[in-house]
Amino acid sequence: MTCIFCEIVRGNAPAFKVHEDDHTLTFMDIFPVSRGHALIIPKDHFENLFEANEESLARIVTRSLALAKAIRRVIAPDGLGVYQLNGAAAGQTVFHYHMHLIPRFKGGRLDLHSRVRGKDADLEAVSREIAAALEAG
Ligand SMILES: [Zn+2]
Repeated sequence: MTCIFCEIVRGNAPAFKVHEDDHTLTFMDIFPVSRGHALIIPKDHFENLFEANEESLARIVTRSLALAKAIRRVIAPDGLGVYQLNGAAAGQTVFHYHMHLIPRFKGGRLDLHSRVRGKDADLEAVSREIAAALEAG
């Protein structure tokens, strides 16, 4: 069975990348529930929290701090949701561990997934803006 996130890590599937290091990859969710909806994944495949190791989790949480600040700078949301789903019953749809960072606005719906694919041009633009904000620190 092919894992779409492993294919992205290997460069065999496209993604709007925001950041990459030896152990983690950050890219835009192509079904964003709001502008700036990003995902952080470990490069090593494990399905969910139950299969994770502490070192991988620590790296992802550390990335989430920098990413959260970059998203806040670019999007200026009222809030930022950080979500991580384990198992189909919890709403997990891709079975490679991932952390969602979702800009939220007062009065907005709290959806975790969208059925509407983002437009490539929009995803590309926001990925560049967030990447630039990350670079700027
Ligand atoms: Zn995978």
